[in-house]
Formats: sequence, C-alpha cells, structure tokens
Amino acid sequence: MPIIDANGKLFSPLFIVMKEVTGDTFGPQVQRDLFTAPNTLVTASSSGKMKKEHLKVWLEEVFFPHVGDRTVLVIDSWSTYKNTALLDAATPEGRHVQIVTVPPKTTPLCQPLDVFGFRMWKTFVRKIWDWVVRDDIQCELHLRNAALKLQSLVHNQFSSPRFREMWKVGWTHPGYFENDEHVEFKTPSQFCFESDAAKENHRCSVAPCEKTHFLTCAWCKATLCFEHFFQYNHFCEVIN
Ligand SMILES: [Zn+2]
Ligand SMILES: [Zn+2]
Repeated sequence: MPIIDANGKLFSPLFIVMKEVTGDTFGPQVQRDLFTAPNTLVTASSSGKMKKEHLKVWLEEVFFPHVGDRTVLVIDSWSTYKNTALLDAATPEGRHVQIVTVPPKTTPLCQPLDVFGFRMWKTFVRKIWDWVVRDDIQCELHLRNAALKLQSLVHNQFSSPRFREMWKVGWTHPGYFENDEHVEFKTPSQFCFESDAAKENHRCSVAPCEKTHFLTCAWCKATLCFEHFFQYNHFCEVIN
C-alpha cells in the first residue's frame, strides 16, 4: 500500500499486508525469520485484505508520522460509518485530517496511484521476474521473504528523487492541481532498464564482477548485475 504526496514524494515505510494461513499474525518461526528492511512495515492478514487493525497500524505508524498538521487524505475505499471512530482515536492531539473518497469505479480517472503509479510498479516487478525466469536464477520470488525483499528494493528505486515529476502526474492529470509547465521525466523502467548501459551491455560496476548489466540504480546510477542488485540487496540512498 504505497502513499504519495502531491509534491511527488513516495512515503516510507511501504505498508504490506501479507496473506497468511495462520491468521492476522505471523507464526513465531516466520516472525523470527521475516525479511526486514528500513522501508517496509509488514503485517499479516488471513484474508490478505486490510482490516480495521491494519488501518490503525497504518494511520499510527505510516500516515501520521509523515504528514503535516492539516492534511487532506485522498483514499479509494473508506467506510465513514466503520472508520470514523478509529480515525478519531488514531489522530494525535492538534492534528486534522479531511478525508476525500474517490467514488467507486472512478479510480482509473482520479485515484493518483491508479492514474500513474501502480502500472509502473507492476511493469518494473515484471521485468525482474522475466530476468529471473529467462536466466533461470534460483531466487524463488514467490516465497515470502524474497517477495518482501523484491518490494523493498522496488520501493527503494521508486523513492529516488529522480521520479518526483512522475509521481506528480497522478495529481496533475486528473486536475487536482494545475500544472502549466511540462516537465520531461523518465519512468523507473526507462531509467533503470533502458539506459545506455543496458543498451550497450555494460559490465557490472562492482569490481571485480564481470556479469552483464541488469539495472541502473535510480539513486547512485551504478550499473548492477542481478546478483549485485538483488542477492546483495542494493538498498541505496546516495543520489548521484
Ligand atoms: Zn545505488
Ligand atoms: Zn555484479
């Protein structure tokens, strides 16, 4: 469940609800071995859907710590009847939130992440899957920890300040804000997978690795092979 603001900032942590047969908590062994990263907050749900308890955690640990005192929250499914008491209880003293609900069936038109965001995310994940399948790499992306690592790394790449203009499109395109200036930008897939380094088959920039380019880091611009991106967990925050 990513959140973006109207300045084109992707918030951290990324809130993840995983479907678990054990119910709304992870088993002790799973909890102990769970992949953790500074940019993910992982919870369990028997249905895989967000329930009241998840919403409470999301408000308290993801939303309120990262927004200003007066906020408009645009959200695509919100039951006022069920959630008002919960929101009131989770709202810290002196803070104010106005909820704007995107009407059902209009999300492709005016839910910012639906307008421009989720599709980029899926395309990016798909490129990683394709590479793994094509090169027959043993990293089992369907397993819990590899799936979490994948989302953490994608979120990290998408958080690069390079993509701020892209995230803004979800707000300006439906008309939440006027935007007269046309700013050119590259999508994460274009920047990371279609760079010159990719086209020219550059070698991985981590010495002495000789493997071929898999991804150009959206932060440091390093040319990375799959191992140095995924297996070695290239979590980057150094902008170059
Ligand atoms: Zn990097
Ligand atoms: Zn390498």
